[in-house]
Amino acid sequence: MLNPVSSVTFTTHGALRKSALRQANERLVLNAIRENPHLSRVEISRITGLSPSSVTFIVKRLSKDKLIREQKVDGAVAQVGRPPTILRLLPSARYAVAVDISPTGSRVALADWTGHILETQPVDWETDAETLLRTLHGAIRNFVNSKPGHRILGVGVSVPGTWDDKTRTVTSAVNLGWKDVAVAPLLEKGLDVPVYFDNNANLSALGERWFRSQGARPLENFVFVTLGGGIGTGIIVAGYVMHGAFGRAGEFGHMTVFPDGRRCLCGNQGCWEEYASDRALARIYQEKTERKLQPHAVADRARRGEAAAAESLVEAGRHLALGLANLIIGLNPEAIVVDNWAASAWDIIEKPVWEVLRQRVPTAWLEGIRIYPSAHAEDSSLLGAVALALTRYFHSFDHSEPGEARNFVQMRG
Ligand SMILES: [Zn+2]
Repeated sequence: MLNPVSSVTFTTHGALRKSALRQANERLVLNAIRENPHLSRVEISRITGLSPSSVTFIVKRLSKDKLIREQKVDGAVAQVGRPPTILRLLPSARYAVAVDISPTGSRVALADWTGHILETQPVDWETDAETLLRTLHGAIRNFVNSKPGHRILGVGVSVPGTWDDKTRTVTSAVNLGWKDVAVAPLLEKGLDVPVYFDNNANLSALGERWFRSQGARPLENFVFVTLGGGIGTGIIVAGYVMHGAFGRAGEFGHMTVFPDGRRCLCGNQGCWEEYASDRALARIYQEKTERKLQPHAVADRARRGEAAAAESLVEAGRHLALGLANLIIGLNPEAIVVDNWAASAWDIIEKPVWEVLRQRVPTAWLEGIRIYPSAHAEDSSLLGAVALALTRYFHSFDHSEPGEARNFVQMRG
């Protein structure tokens, strides 16, 4: 099935210059090829609305610039009516650098523009923010310098906290002990490529939308629930990450599920993350057994028949479902993706999760919804950072000459 190409919004003051239009059309074709890895020229023309002769012209230029390649489809496939040649992005044409800042160990990675992570450098945690950021900056610079000639399209950075795009600071990251940390100046220093930032849950959602599986229809309305020390949610609405008016959307981890419940780090009582995060599962299991275990180890013990492990997972799973019920009723998503402990124990908790949902959510909200574990395990926010680094290139661009009215074109991303 073909993915419909992203729509284009033109916001211009004055006419688009011819060169800007040419660039817009090239990006439209590149993005169509990115989203649909088996396209022929005819199909590109159909889904972009560009004339067949324009597509031929653009494809020739992109091939000449070694950005895409045309690939012959073998005879057996061609016989059932498939086109004789398909178009693919050339993976080695462009790259992105991705950074995942995390208290359990940060990572800097080099990926090609089709989303394949080629190399990862782990960076140990430092309590001093400036020391950590300097080490990360060194790793970013090495990857950027390894692909000279403007082949790195951008750097995407995932931060585990609230990010303010206006001041370019991490306003609050409880797990890191950071408050109002100006991350951007240190990480961007001396780099000749743009650096973009967002919250880790938002990026896990963006990564899921971009790299769910090659050829699958991108999800338009869904929630990525990331479970760690707390709970974060990345919300995609009509194809966009929802940031809220002040960049703080998605903090459903602090939604009250038990009014007189446990005290949370945020000061409230009975927050969802006190009952359904990785940290909460570890606590529940420890209360039953006096043993401290990693979430995947609890799942392993449950599978080997340990009753306390299975009971802990079911209890945390039912609490997870309480929050999911509220998300489903409020946001009406087509899918919810869960990671970490819930992904590693999905085979054990799927049934109890659905039992609670059927009790709490009117049937109409549950029709057609899919709830599934993330396939990317620990890489979801890192992959999201890759997508963030590439978003601007594929989905929007600014083409203004100095001193003239601003022409801005944006595609949905
Ligand atoms: Zn809270």
